Amino acid sequence: MVNPQYGFPDLVSGSFIKDGVKLVRDPFIGGSYYELGSSKFSSLYLTWALPLITKPLIVNCTVSALRKWASQGVPFNFVRIYDILEADIKISFVSGDHGDGLPFNGKHGPFGHGLPPPTGILHLNEDIPWAMGAVPGTVDIETVVLHMLGHVLGLSHSNVSSAVMWAHMQWGLIKRDLDPDDIVGIRTLYGYRDRPRHRAF
Ligand SMILES: [Zn+2]
Ligand SMILES: [Zn+2]
Repeated sequence: MVNPQYGFPDLVSGSFIKDGVKLVRDPFIGGSYYELGSSKFSSLYLTWALPLITKPLIVNCTVSALRKWASQGVPFNFVRIYDILEADIKISFVSGDHGDGLPFNGKHGPFGHGLPPPTGILHLNEDIPWAMGAVPGTVDIETVVLHMLGHVLGLSHSNVSSAVMWAHMQWGLIKRDLDPDDIVGIRTLYGYRDRPRHRAF
């Protein structure tokens, strides 16, 4: 739970502007306040793509993050393709003002942003000192990709500090496992199946 005295400090500012909808500032996005709707993909079969030149280790981190979202009772079928324009989930590294109205500010952040369905855009700030693991002064790429995929799939932020969808993240730390709160969120959005559904003909 958020301690009301210390909840939403510097990185996240809460404000109620209409009908009790809480808008928060996302340190992963930074700059603007935004609200995620309840949009979702209409299919659980989703293609994803990274640029062809992406390092294999980064591909592995992405696959690991995708698997975590696909292993919680929502049988997503994430299939890699190589045409990023055709993919449902388009992951790329971009720098500075990259044309979508959500500019990055060099190594000062934000780390990236994931836009809600059906956009499928997941931008990572290429000026961030990325790393794989808990390395001081760096940012763990799988931690950020896991969070951004939550947004890409349609989740908003959680007020549970242990959740991947908590809006805060610290340099040099990792959070690579979905919290029960994240799992409830994705099941609520897409429905829970305790086994794959078979079509009846
Ligand atoms: Zn962007
Ligand atoms: Zn976020």
